This record gives sequence, C-alpha cells and structure tokens, in this order.
Amino acid sequence: MEIIKNNLKQHSYSSLSNEFYSEQLQQPLNDPYLIHVNKSLLSELGLSKESHEVLMNIFNGNVQIPGIQGISMNYAGHQFGQYVQQLGDGRGILLGELKIKDEFFDIHIKGSGKTTYSRFGDGRAVLRSSLREYLCGEAMNGLGISSSRSLMIFGSHDMVYREKSEPAAMIARTAKTHIRFGSFEKFFHDGLLDRHKELSDYVIYKYLPKANKYKNKYSYLLESIVTKTASLIANWQSVGFCHGVMNTDNMSILGETIDYGPYGFIDKFNPAHVCNLSDSSGRYSYQNQPYIGKWNCSALAHTFGHLIDKEEIGRIMSLYEDVYGKTLFNLYKAKLGLKKKDNGDELLIQELLNIMEVEKLDFTRTFRSLSNIIKNNHLVKTDKSLKSWSEKFQQRHQHESDDEDSRVKQMNQTNPKFILRNYLVQNAIDKAEEGSYTEIDNLMELITKPFNENLKYEKYAEESPDWAADIGLSCSS
Ligand code: AMP
Ligand code: MG
Repeated sequence: MEIIKNNLKQHSYSSLSNEFYSEQLQQPLNDPYLIHVNKSLLSELGLSKESHEVLMNIFNGNVQIPGIQGISMNYAGHQFGQYVQQLGDGRGILLGELKIKDEFFDIHIKGSGKTTYSRFGDGRAVLRSSLREYLCGEAMNGLGISSSRSLMIFGSHDMVYREKSEPAAMIARTAKTHIRFGSFEKFFHDGLLDRHKELSDYVIYKYLPKANKYKNKYSYLLESIVTKTASLIANWQSVGFCHGVMNTDNMSILGETIDYGPYGFIDKFNPAHVCNLSDSSGRYSYQNQPYIGKWNCSALAHTFGHLIDKEEIGRIMSLYEDVYGKTLFNLYKAKLGLKKKDNGDELLIQELLNIMEVEKLDFTRTFRSLSNIIKNNHLVKTDKSLKSWSEKFQQRHQHESDDEDSRVKQMNQTNPKFILRNYLVQNAIDKAEEGSYTEIDNLMELITKPFNENLKYEKYAEESPDWAADIGLSCSS
C-alpha cells in the first residue's frame, strides 16, 4: 500500500472549474478476482513491488487512498457525425495521476459503476470488452503505436446485461491524458468560451509548455493536436488497424489510441472493411479513417474560433493531409525495406495494395512475407499473385545501398509476424469466461514482441479461420 499511496496524486484536472468534472467514488464489484496483471507496465510505472491484491482493492474502490478523490470527466462529442451535447465518463473514474520523471500518467478505472454522466447506462463494463481493451493496448504498444494501456483487469461474478447476461469486469488503464476532442467541444457548444479557454490553458500548462514560446499559443496547441492525430491514423493504417468508433469523444488530444470498442486488425485486405456492426453506413471503415480523422480535427478546430483567426485555422487544418500523407508514405517505405528516394515508390506501394485487395491477401502475412522475396529470392506459396510485382520490387531493391541483411532486418522490424486477430481475442475471451487465463498469457507474449519469430506460437501467425468472419462486434460493451 505504501508505494501506491506515496506515488498516486490527486489529478490536477480537479483544479479546474466545477463544470469540468464531478467527484466520484467507484461502486466496487463484489468479490473481485484478478484476471491478468500487466507486470511490465507496473514496473515501468514504479509499481512492481506493490501487491497486486492491494492495487486491485484500490482500483475496485474497496480501499481509499487518503487525500485522493476520484473524478469523472465531463465532455460531449460527435457520435457518428451527430453532435451529442452530454456525454462524459458514464462508467469510469479518473482515480489520480502518477508522475514518472517529467511525464504524467492518468490512472483511470473503467467499469467502475454509475456516475453523474451515466445517462441510461449501468456504469459497468463486461469481461469481454474489458479484455479486448486490455489486450489491444498492449498490442498497439508492442507495434510502437501510441496507446492507452492497462495495468490490470479484474472480474467478479456480478452479472450485467447486454444482449445477454455477462460477467462484469474492470480495467485500470493509463494514458498520458483522458482529455478528448469532445472535452473542448462541450464547453464551446455550451457557450462557455471562458471554460474552453481555461481548458486550453490547462492543456498547454500541463502537456505543451513549449506553446508559450509562440506568438499565439492556442495556434500551437491546435497544430499539435491536428498533426499528432494525422500521424496516429497513418500508423493505424500501416498495420491494418480499424478503430471502429472514431467519435470525437474517443479521440485523445495527445494522439494516443483510446477507448477500444469493436476494433479489429484487417485479415484479408479490404479497404472498405468495417469492424463495427453498429456502423451500418461504414462511416468508420478502414479506408475512411484518414478522412474521419480530418473531419474530427475540423470539429475540434471549429471550437477554437475565439482564440485563433480563421486563416490560421485554415493553415493548421491543411497540415493534416501533409502529415498524414508523409507519415504513411514513410511507414510503407519502411515496410518495403526502402530508404532511398525513388519517384516510382508511390506507384510500387499502390500496386501492392491493389493486388492485396483484388487477391484478398492477408494484410499482416503479406507484408511479413516481403522480406522473403528479398532474402530468399522466392515467394511463399500463397504469394503467386505477387510474382510480377515482386520482380519490380527486387529491381527496386538493387538501388538501395544498405546491405541485404540490414534491409531484411528492417523489414522484419516493421512488419509484425503476430497481430491481435479477432479470433485470437475471441478464444481468449471464451477461455476467460470459463475461468482459464493461460490464453491471455500466450497472447501477451506475442503481442508485446510482435516482430520476433516465435516457433512455439507459429500457429498464431496463420490466417484467421473462416469462422472468424462471423465474429460480430458492436458498440455494446
Ligand atoms: P463508448 O462508446 O464506450 O466510448 O461510450 C460512449 C459514451 O457512453 C461515454 O460517455 C460512456 O461513458 C458512455 N457509456 C458507455 N457504456 C456505458 C455504460 N454501461 N454505462 C454508462 N455509460 C456508458
Ligand atoms: Mg468513449
């Protein structure tokens, strides 16, 4: 208890005006039990020596840390394009924050019971969706993509009702911030421009002190959010990640992936892939993500009209496509093992993606197999359709100056061998619901080192079985 007691601090967000949050206690789950503990994250946050049971009891709300008052954050957001004026943490509390060197880490509990902002919800999260979030935070981190991560997941025999009755769970997650685009939208659309400015000043003070050096610090703030978002989404595209619910209340202002719902990594490449059954129009399909990222940035930028002039907002918004395009191009070049400038590269990448789409090739396996074309000068069986493309690809590699080994190495450090496929998560959920957690261990081992070969787990790198296509994921969680 001493370690967490000495390190966890009251969150500075609670120094803001009343409209920003409400004080909140968790409603503990009955007889909680640990499902999985993220030991490496605990250690990164200086909590490795703390007892897991103690931490669980604090996160569950059975034990309070003196001087710490949890809060639920107030925000709004555009959901599927419609503005919703009142959202907020309906089932979560920001328990406090840790400061590690010069960085802050929020400790947020999800599934912790009803709050001021619960509306019609029960304040709970089911084991299924909690485990999905727990695993994907690590998968993204393993891939080198900015994300919230979870310290632990614990469950209870308390049941909650979604489409059916399901066991409840909570996760304790960390992120640099839980401030969302929707946090800014809330105060702007409520007509509270002073509050909007108060939030902007807080974010600059806490996360972007550099902004103070600029003529208009708010302009720097908005630019930072827009460019970080563009870069994040380019990173998602490069690994075939679909977020599923890119509502503005699920967009972090520091460009971290947050609020995992019906996400998915693409199996057979289909740019129109939609991973969320509730998304009937395909608004958040894989190929729309970059546009939606920009749409979300526009919704945010609109709220800055009282702090930044119109032309400047236009300039900042125009950076989105630049940053997105350049970041994605560089990521694809790295995936292809290419460093030198060559005017044909854009076409080479596009041709590959076209073949992958037409031939319905597996996204992850195809990219991973590219290093074989260079190294062994051959194609694995499934890649027949890539034959003529790979001749061009080999020729292009002739112009590189790094030796073959380092090019191959770079490709294998950029194209994961293992990806968190939906069916793998589903298997782990099915086992966890029966009380067995070894599958979580197996997945954690793979997703935290997704670029390594791991012979013991070869079958986890195979294509998804046909039944995976029937796993329907909706917003219900
Ligand atoms: P999400 O789709 O999980 O990002 O949630 C959208 C909004 O609904 C947020 O304001 C959540 O806090 C709220 N919400 C989602 N599920 C629940 C629930 N079971 N109880 C209360 N609020 C919820
Ligand atoms: Mg959310």
